[in-house]
Amino acid sequence: MPEEQKQANAVHGELIYGVGVDDHTRCAHWHGENDIIAIRFHCCERWYGCFECHTECANHPATVWPTVEWDRHAILCGACGQKLTITEYLNSDSGCPACGAAFNPNCFSHYHLYFAMTT
Ligand SMILES: [Zn+2]
Ligand SMILES: [Zn+2]
Ligand SMILES: [Zn+2]
Repeated sequence: MPEEQKQANAVHGELIYGVGVDDHTRCAHWHGENDIIAIRFHCCERWYGCFECHTECANHPATVWPTVEWDRHAILCGACGQKLTITEYLNSDSGCPACGAAFNPNCFSHYHLYFAMTT
């Protein structure tokens, strides 16, 4: 197994990188009942369990998604595997539009780490 895959887990057909990523994309940093989304990073197009997973596992600084790319599918629901665009996720009211699973509503305080929140 390649070195980098030691810190990755296949969830719904996507390889999710991070620390201790489980089968619902929870990680060592965020592992509550509703911490079930993975995020594709703008810088490397790889899925990570969270920002801290990227910090620990990627060898480069993270960049955020500019507004013009918010139609990209950068959010993965760890419950059903549905991919959401950034706009869909930000408008999801902390729940998966496909399966209804609740997302952690406190994630909003971290949006600026992933998305260019310019307004
Ligand atoms: Zn990256
Ligand atoms: Zn993490
Ligand atoms: Zn879902």
